[in-house]
Amino acid sequence: MVNILFVERSDNVLTKDRLMRFGVVTDGTSYLCGEQSESHMHWFFDCPFSKAVVLMLQNWLIIKLQGNVEDWIIKWRRKSLLQKKVVMAVIFGLVYGIWDCRNTCRVELFVPQPKRLIEGIHSVLKVRLNRMEFSRGKIKCCRWLQQTGLSE
Ligand SMILES: [Zn+2]
Repeated sequence: MVNILFVERSDNVLTKDRLMRFGVVTDGTSYLCGEQSESHMHWFFDCPFSKAVVLMLQNWLIIKLQGNVEDWIIKWRRKSLLQKKVVMAVIFGLVYGIWDCRNTCRVELFVPQPKRLIEGIHSVLKVRLNRMEFSRGKIKCCRWLQQTGLSE
C-alpha cells in the first residue's frame, strides 16, 4: 500500500510537467494520450488511457471504482480477506502497469492497448491465486472469483 500511495501522492515522480519545469523537456504532452499535459494526476486518473484501463478493470472485476486509489482501498476494507487481497493485487498491478505502459510509450514510441494491460494483470493474478495452496478451497468456492475468470 505504501508504494501505491507513494506513486499517487509523490511529487518525486518525473512526469513531463516536472521535467518541463526543470528544462529537461520542451513538450509536456502525455505519452499515453498525446492530448493533455502529463502531470501526476493526469497520469493515473485523468488520462483517457488510464480511464479506459480502469473502466475495463471495473467490468472485469464487477466492481465500481470511484474517487482515488485511497478511496478504492477504503471501500474494499469491508470485503472478505480473499477479495481484499485480490483487489489490492489488482490495484498494485494497475498502478505498475500504467507506469510501465507510459515508459513503453516513451522508449518504444507506441501506445500499448489498455486491453493488454488488463490481460497481463489477469494472467499474473490467476497464476498467483493457483499458487496459494492454503486458500485453494476458498478460491474454488468464491463465486465472485469464478465470475471474474480468476477461478474455474
Ligand atoms: Zn494522457
